Amino acid sequence: MRSYIIAGNWKMYTTPVEAATLASAILEQHERLQPPHSVKTIICPPYTSLYAAREVIAGTRICLGAQNCHYENKGAFTGEVAPMMLKASGCSYVILGHSERRQYCGETNALVNKKIHGALRDGLIPIYCVGETLIERQNNQTLDIIRVQLVDGLKDVSLHSAEQLVIAYEPVWAIGTGLAATPSQAQEVHSAIRAILSEVWKEYGARVRILYGGSLKPENAEEIFTMPDVDGGLIGGASLQAESFGAILAVACHLAVQ
Ligand code: PEP
Repeated sequence: MRSYIIAGNWKMYTTPVEAATLASAILEQHERLQPPHSVKTIICPPYTSLYAAREVIAGTRICLGAQNCHYENKGAFTGEVAPMMLKASGCSYVILGHSERRQYCGETNALVNKKIHGALRDGLIPIYCVGETLIERQNNQTLDIIRVQLVDGLKDVSLHSAEQLVIAYEPVWAIGTGLAATPSQAQEVHSAIRAILSEVWKEYGARVRILYGGSLKPENAEEIFTMPDVDGGLIGGASLQAESFGAILAVACHLAVQ
């Protein structure tokens, strides 16, 4: 049986009331689909909506994630949120290194590496995002860029910690553009990610879970999820509607039991 992770990145959308409504609608889809245990569903609301979403999904198999964190576990870092605060707020996952944070907040591989260590220290599972820009792809630099993001971003992460980690391949040119990678483009990079990770963590490279993200929708989920090295999706826009998120989840449920 194949296992899949279907994670929704709600970005900077939803007030607490809207988050509760969306989480309830997603929970309805989840209950209707009854995903097998090999399919995991994660929702990642903004910080201020974590509590509201958590109230709705408490006691269900839907997991909660955040979209960022600081690397320290407390301190004079005005405006920041510590990994242990997220853990105490019900999060099991945290998205780190998303291209929007790299692009708009100047996050570097070195900073994201510190955040990954901080998250692991406090018991959160990082969903580490990597991906190339359009110019980098056009210049045939995709795999070089991904290699640097993996090697620098995961510096000094132990094999034991790596067992937990989730990688998300998100080509920057595919995020929010409606232009998803083709299944073969995704497969090529996912299998390269496994090969690069195998250099560091040996056989674990074969087991690491790698999600595809970038304009995933119900119409393209099946062709991408059937690729051998794709273990699910990180979904932005389509996760803000329970129907489209549920339809993508349904594809994973169907493929998992085939
Ligand atoms: C994302 O924000 O991680 C993402 C993949 O967005 P979208 O699905 O909207 O392209």
